[in-house]
This record gives sequence, C-alpha cells and structure tokens, in this order.
Amino acid sequence: MEFRINSSCSVCDWCGKDVYFGNAMVTINRNIEQIDISKQFPDGVVTVIQSDVLLSLCAECGNQLNATALGQSLKNF
Ligand SMILES: [Zn+2]
Repeated sequence: MEFRINSSCSVCDWCGKDVYFGNAMVTINRNIEQIDISKQFPDGVVTVIQSDVLLSLCAECGNQLNATALGQSLKNF
C-alpha cells in the first residue's frame, strides 16, 4: 500500500474542500449499539454493531456546527 502525504482522505460535505490526512475533521455518525452487563462488567460493555457517517466536515465548517445547522443537514436524510 502506497502512502502519499498530500493525498486527501475525505471531502467536506458543506464546502467541498479536500480534507487531508493529519487534519482534524468533524463527523456525525449513526451508531447501532448493544450494551451488555455482567458480573465481570457491572457498568456494561458497549459493542458497536454498525456505524455510518452521516456528515463529514472540515475543521472550519465543523466549528460552525450548531443545533440549527445540524438540524437542517439531517433533514436531507
Ligand atoms: Zn468545510
């Protein structure tokens, strides 16, 4: 597997800018989880069964994320 330091790993869903490896980004995920409690783990153990990225943002857009903006974005799903 070739590693290229300038290759992008994602594109911001709001501004369309490439997000490169090593740069911060904000994601909103939908997780399906299961919690199991036992004598060994009385506080529970969480198993993530499935995780899907709903929204992927560059750091600049992610810092502008608030409840109103998130609500508008999630209406598209
Ligand atoms: Zn962005």
